Amino acid sequence: MSYFALLIGKLLRFCLNVFGRGSSLPGKIALKIDENILSKFDFPSLVIFVTGTNGKTSTTHYLSNILSEAQYKTMTNLAGANLVQGIVTQALEYSSFNFTIQADAVVLEVDEATLPNIIEDIKPSHILMLNLFPDQEDRFGSVEELAIKLNKALVTDSKLILNANDPRLAWIGESHPELAITYYGVDKISLIQPSHSILCPNCQQELSYQWQHYEHLGYYSCSSCGFKTPFVQYMARKVDLNQQVFDLDDFSYPIPQATSYTLFNVLAAVSLALDLEIKEETIHSAIEGTEIVRGRNEKIEFADKKIAVNLAKNPAGMNQSISNLLSQETENYNLMLAINNQAADGVSIAWLKDCDFTRLLETPLQHIYLSGSVRKDLYQILLNQGIPKNKLSIEEIASGLEKLTTHPENAYIIANYTSLNNIYKYIK
Ligand SMILES: [Zn+2]
Repeated sequence: MSYFALLIGKLLRFCLNVFGRGSSLPGKIALKIDENILSKFDFPSLVIFVTGTNGKTSTTHYLSNILSEAQYKTMTNLAGANLVQGIVTQALEYSSFNFTIQADAVVLEVDEATLPNIIEDIKPSHILMLNLFPDQEDRFGSVEELAIKLNKALVTDSKLILNANDPRLAWIGESHPELAITYYGVDKISLIQPSHSILCPNCQQELSYQWQHYEHLGYYSCSSCGFKTPFVQYMARKVDLNQQVFDLDDFSYPIPQATSYTLFNVLAAVSLALDLEIKEETIHSAIEGTEIVRGRNEKIEFADKKIAVNLAKNPAGMNQSISNLLSQETENYNLMLAINNQAADGVSIAWLKDCDFTRLLETPLQHIYLSGSVRKDLYQILLNQGIPKNKLSIEEIASGLEKLTTHPENAYIIANYTSLNNIYKYIK
């Protein structure tokens, strides 16, 4: 049955490639024929899972580029194909007919809810965890519940590379003394972004923060149980977001985009690469050569106008995108906020109320065009947060894009998954 699933899956993959269609359909069909197919593949000894709420796609790109630069034949999954069927599809492509994955290294972006379902089948050698923010509660449950699920899922002897500045990840690390764990973190630098404290993941008392980077990331301790920021082995120092560089152990690395989340993503990839004893120079040149992932401060062109586009799918992502505008935009600009609530985005729109839109008023904002399936709710949320009525209008994607580009001012778009895809349909 497994062999039949492999053959059908590979054949389907081949056909779809011929027709130029990337899709997770081969994986889906192969899983229908043999639901355990993932456990049949013979993966190489180096398999890295990249998981966490924000930054998975970018970090996976950095990491797979670094490994390729270091001469590893690297298998990685396509952007967004981070669910079981996407991972099986990728394995089908790289597998020989005896289920051997033809690669020296595998780097997989893994959805947080998917990790517990595939960890025993693949037994990754490394798991890189980036952060845990509130996100799509209808899918993941609360962020606290998600941390507990991930913690329980760590039944293999994978090495963990964890962000020490996220208390929830440090708690996961502390809960697994049997595993090899390395922490990375960012030195105490000011990022001028909204931050808040959370409850101690260990004893549920309020954590006290000695330093905050953004959201709940920083340096923290619990006066009740003694839980605190663990020792950071890979520390980003001398961070300069304007110059787009940081130092790690006296070597300077580039930050391809001047945003704090890019800093954390690059640092995560660098830390794992250093742990694999890849040379600093190799890491450096791979990061420099990594192309920007779609929708991450990407510049697109529409009607001869350049528009900066950012993906934001949860409060942390939205607040970061707004922080970018605060730190980078000194000239008048117009903004399009395009938010959908399809299944891939999360149906609930409660998260929009947790975004701090009022900070937009500290920027030279002229007008906001609200688009996407929840544009009317968004209009009300922005009004409630004190954005003046005369700065808001409700538009379809097409008319919003048109108005955004006919004005002489700079143009920005912040959108979530499916609305971003809709926008790209007008661009290409
Ligand atoms: Zn505590």
